[in-house]
Amino acid sequence: MLQLRDSNGPAAVIRRADYSAPAFWIDSVHLTFDLDPAKTRVLNKMTLRRNPDVSVQPLRLDGEALNLARVLVNGQGASFKLDGGKLVLENLPLEGTFELEIFTTCEPLKNTSLSGLYVSNDSFFTQCEAEGFRRITYFLDRPDVMANYTVTLRADQQKYPVLLSNGNLMDSGALGGVGNEGRHFATWVDPHKKPCYLFALVAGQLVCREQRITSRAGKEHLLQVYVRPGDMDKTEHAMHSLMASVVWDEARFGLALDLERFMIVATSDFNMGAMENKGLNIFNTKYVLANQATATDADFSNIESVVGHEYFHNWTGNRITCRDWCQLSLKEGLTVFRDQEFSMDLCADASARAVKRIEDVRVLRTAQFPEDAGPMAHPVRPDSYIEINNFYTVTIYEKGAEVVRMMQTLATEGASDPSGRAGFAKGITLYFARHDGHAVTCDDFAQSIADANPDSALARLLPQFKRWYSQAGTPRLRARGSYDAAAQTYTLNLRQSCAATPGQEAKEPFVIPVSLGLVGSSGADLPLQLQDGSTSSHGSHLLVMTQADESITFVNVAEEPVPSILRGFSAPVLLDFDYSDAQLLTLLAFDPDPFNRWEAGQRLALRSAIQLIASDALLTGATPLNDAYIEAMRSVLRHPALDAAFKELVLTLPSETYIAEQLEVVDPQRIHAVREAMRAQLASALAADWQWAFEAHAPNGAYRPDTVSSGRRALTGLALTQLCLAARDSGDPSTGSGQAGLWPGKAYQRFKDADNMTDRFNALNALVNSGHALATPALAQFHTLFKNEELVLDKWFALQAGSCDRGGQVLPAVRQLLKHPDFNLRNPNRARSVIFSYCSANPGAFHRADAAGYVFWSERVLELDRINPQVAARLARALDRWKKLAEPYRSSARQAIERVADKPELSNDVREVVSRALAD
Ligand SMILES: [Zn+2]
Repeated sequence: MLQLRDSNGPAAVIRRADYSAPAFWIDSVHLTFDLDPAKTRVLNKMTLRRNPDVSVQPLRLDGEALNLARVLVNGQGASFKLDGGKLVLENLPLEGTFELEIFTTCEPLKNTSLSGLYVSNDSFFTQCEAEGFRRITYFLDRPDVMANYTVTLRADQQKYPVLLSNGNLMDSGALGGVGNEGRHFATWVDPHKKPCYLFALVAGQLVCREQRITSRAGKEHLLQVYVRPGDMDKTEHAMHSLMASVVWDEARFGLALDLERFMIVATSDFNMGAMENKGLNIFNTKYVLANQATATDADFSNIESVVGHEYFHNWTGNRITCRDWCQLSLKEGLTVFRDQEFSMDLCADASARAVKRIEDVRVLRTAQFPEDAGPMAHPVRPDSYIEINNFYTVTIYEKGAEVVRMMQTLATEGASDPSGRAGFAKGITLYFARHDGHAVTCDDFAQSIADANPDSALARLLPQFKRWYSQAGTPRLRARGSYDAAAQTYTLNLRQSCAATPGQEAKEPFVIPVSLGLVGSSGADLPLQLQDGSTSSHGSHLLVMTQADESITFVNVAEEPVPSILRGFSAPVLLDFDYSDAQLLTLLAFDPDPFNRWEAGQRLALRSAIQLIASDALLTGATPLNDAYIEAMRSVLRHPALDAAFKELVLTLPSETYIAEQLEVVDPQRIHAVREAMRAQLASALAADWQWAFEAHAPNGAYRPDTVSSGRRALTGLALTQLCLAARDSGDPSTGSGQAGLWPGKAYQRFKDADNMTDRFNALNALVNSGHALATPALAQFHTLFKNEELVLDKWFALQAGSCDRGGQVLPAVRQLLKHPDFNLRNPNRARSVIFSYCSANPGAFHRADAAGYVFWSERVLELDRINPQVAARLARALDRWKKLAEPYRSSARQAIERVADKPELSNDVREVVSRALAD
């Protein structure tokens, strides 16, 4: 037995340009596991052959944290060496296939990184993407090596009654022989070739909800959702979501389930959201378990989209996978696009679709835009990385999805398919016809979509369009309009630019699809007629911008219009147009495009915030929002035709993070103070309207998590928060005097009486974030009620760590929470609920003039790095934007990052993040 150390050499940079095909192919893999938490034995029998396209060279297998016991080639002992963590074999047969047998052990119980094989709640789980399989056995751990897997699991029957792996169950039963008393086995065969990152096994005490379904083609499939005993009452929604996903993918893209059995297993210790292992998806419990008592509407909606996402990977990711990890967005951007479309297609109407679109864009702009402007900025297809785990980013996922969305828009070939939907679906069909069963690149994907639509703008502009894959940074689109009353023409001049990002000084122009309309004074879209004579049959015109500067002129424009630019957020860019307040109020009141209608309200609020941050007006007691804005918000809130969900989005101010992104120099405390003042003014000025909204949207009938009823709950939740805020500001709320003073009491009552978690949690949130005295007993009762519900406790922790800071009380409270008996740093969900909620999601409390927030951050990064480098590296990103901070924050943030960077024993994960943050 040979004891190996983890490879701790200097971190190597992996470059996309250095890609070379593997020197060997692995045709088949037979794995046998003797599962034991302390020491699991893994026998790996592989059939290999040389890749004839690559020069003869040694076989170099990846391995990490393994104990190697035996290596046999064709049944004979073989010479090998270990080189930097790799197992290197020379003198292998030059022709034909050969058998390689490797026997290793690993220590699942000690595996706190949750990568590879690990133990959670006395059950075994695996996580192999991106490079966890090398922690299970020596292998060519790269996505372009696809093999057939047969897996036998052997374990104690009582402790591990359920034994699962990918594919179909071929055999199972008791193990015979001496030493095997009480042990059993299961053998699984996956009928599909797959890369090793899609391997999975699960063993433990689990129960499952089952459903048989029949596909359109008449094939029967078994769907299963496995959870811990006691959680069965929380599996119905996940199963419904899975069934809806199966139906949708077949209906929209013609992609049917290709397995007899499809399993989802939930685990509470998981680094990511969920993992698409072939036929055996492993999920964070957060994205499986829900019932009305424990889960909010947001949880229900997230479960639907994550279940969909992982299921859709069965084709986009598993059947066609990535050639190398720089191509990660090939599967992730595409699959996020697919899950977004899935959720939208499940919406009851266009209004609900628009709400979903606004929510998606809000995530993109508050998380991805800052990333694209910061030290970790990278193209959707990165050129290099040190630790691939650091590149599971909002750029790869969310921006990648926007790139796919633009491809759909540009795949249109005219009036018969204005949205490009049909053209894009044709492209997907061609993509599978060409590449099914292979590991390919983003270029291959784009080429397929273009080739399927030869007359489309995408086909015409493909080489330039692909700059979205190669250039980092968010393009800025500057638009200026001019109306010629005499000639009745309206001209828009557009200019695009993109700021430098690390390693990319100058950028070439992007292809930017700009959907635009002209709104008249009556509020309706004006007919669009282009100067060249062509008319647009729809209210919107799609301008496909390719140059740095372009202009477009509309003729026969009878009145000066308000341009509605970038409708539906048709491209992931920053739009700069010098709208007057009056123009924005027109769009907010009338724009037929709901996205831009919402956007107009955001722009008005942002404008007030920025003016106030730049001045000292707040100190002199000025009210931050003008009467016109307040009246416009009142009109939206009281509007008879708008949906509650849309109202809630319009009435929610831009986040502190989003406001910060608009500023050159960021004073987080000033932003916080300004936004709080705006919130307070909206609360008091609209108090009667909030009260009306709360009462008009009272619960009506049994709880259902559909978009209409969840929209009602979202609006009443916001109303209650605003009413509690108004109560705080209207004298002495504790006496309960006056109309406003009643609201904290009503919130407390709602908290106690609610029949669902959404209403209950919204009421608790209203009390906590208005700083009301009733928050204390409510928090205590909430803990008592849900002390056995891990996911609900996560909410309880997160609410406190993310609560509004008034005088610096949040940090000491967070430090107390770390000492709470229910806190556990090793559980990623719990660590995130306290530490990330404070450091990454509560800027007003985190950025303290005394630097104590940053000290806390550096302590936690170092502490977590010793346990789980992936989670630590995520936390390290909380100070990405330190260079924008005003003093004293900037200097103290730098010192905190340097404190982390100075530690010699950092993981590659954290090292890469802090080095990039400190780079010039
Ligand atoms: Zn994914």
